[in-house]
Amino acid sequence: MDFELTEEQKMVQEMARRFAETEIRPVAAELDRTHKHPEEICNKLGELKFMGIAVPEEYGGGGMDNVSYVVTLIEISKACASTGVIMSVNNSLYCFPVMAYGSHEQKEKYLYPVASGEKIGCYGLTEANAGSDPASMRTSAEEVSNGWVINGTKRFITSGNVASYCVLAAVTDKNKGYRGISSFVVNLKEIKGFSVGKVEDKMGIKASGTAEMIFDNAHVPKDALLGAAGGGFKQMLTTLDGGRIGIAAQAIGIGRAVLEEAVEYTKTREQFGKPIASFQAIQWKLADMVTQMDAAELLTLKAADLEDRHKPFERAAAMAKMFASDAAMNAAVEGVQILGGYGYCQEYPMERHMRDAKICQIYEGTNEIMRLVIANNLLKGK
Ligand SMILES: Cc1cc2nc3c(=O)[nH]c(=O)nc-3n(C[C@H](O)[C@H](O)[C@H](O)COP(=O)(O)OP(=O)(O)OC[C@H]3O[C@@H](n4cnc5c(N)ncnc54)[C@H](O)[C@@H]3O)c2cc1C
Repeated sequence: MDFELTEEQKMVQEMARRFAETEIRPVAAELDRTHKHPEEICNKLGELKFMGIAVPEEYGGGGMDNVSYVVTLIEISKACASTGVIMSVNNSLYCFPVMAYGSHEQKEKYLYPVASGEKIGCYGLTEANAGSDPASMRTSAEEVSNGWVINGTKRFITSGNVASYCVLAAVTDKNKGYRGISSFVVNLKEIKGFSVGKVEDKMGIKASGTAEMIFDNAHVPKDALLGAAGGGFKQMLTTLDGGRIGIAAQAIGIGRAVLEEAVEYTKTREQFGKPIASFQAIQWKLADMVTQMDAAELLTLKAADLEDRHKPFERAAAMAKMFASDAAMNAAVEGVQILGGYGYCQEYPMERHMRDAKICQIYEGTNEIMRLVIANNLLKGK
């Protein structure tokens, strides 16, 4: 067992750290305030090959491994959690399924522009009445002579308001339950009958758009079907396993930012004539935070390493996502407490970290669903 990153992984981590510190962190508060999609930053992330890190270079990606994806995403999310989730969805929820289930022609057409960062990708699974239970989705795709006609509304879709491409789940045979769900990959800019609906006003990750996507007799070409008809649900489960590693990394980034800023503050803030770092009550909070964040990072790197070695990683990914998001949320709550009244005000980024951390416990499967996944795996001896 080797706990050291390879030279290549260290290099990409350092590159991400430098970029995040100089180009993202300085504008993160402004992005949060204006709710503006960080377009320029995403373009630069594309140039750095961070928008399709694990996609082979021939399809526009970085040709790196999932451990590199994790260490990079931690650095980006540490500077700005909104940018982190845009990058995570682009990599895990769009590029991965097109890479894994698309034909060579589909990859050239639909993967290259997104993996290279020229365009943004999104993933449309959730609907108003189908969240934790996606098998109850209503969006339908009917086969016609020259393609498919999609009808339905997706809800809460990250980057749904800015994306050019989307991997979308729809029912192709309503008599077959979850076996009647299929995946499609579509160029949203070319579809008549597609429109963006409500863009949510959220608690946190405010610079990441979360939108309704409306398909009203939207005609898509034959080559939009990803993999076999009826295989969509299984594809979705595997895609979300990888996505959860990304959300764990996003949570770790937020937790690391909290920790760094809390440590700094405790050394400079004085009460009763000494730095608050000298109080044991504060030290215990810091000790708990760093222990939980280190444990979260180990779980997440383990899940990414299993994926890189093509070993089963469903349980490891769910554990990483659940533990890292709970750890980040705990750290953020304590971070605000450590900064006292200043932690509650926007003068410091701490209140933003607390708002940003919360979503990691909810999306890509709530932490209640993560516990179900973990327990199911455990009981089946996996
Ligand atoms: C900011 C944001 C971005 C998102 N991005 C995307 C995206 O890009 N693509 C996409 O498809 N979706 C996206 N989502 C949707 C997200 O994945 C869902 O919100 C999430 O899976 C929960 O679904 P729900 O909101 O319908 O909650 P519900 O499923 O209604 O759950 C409500 C509560 O009940 C609990 N619960 C439900 N079922 C069970 C059970 N069996 N056992 C125990 N507890 C249960 C849940 O844990 C939760 O606490 C996003 C959501 C948000 C808020």
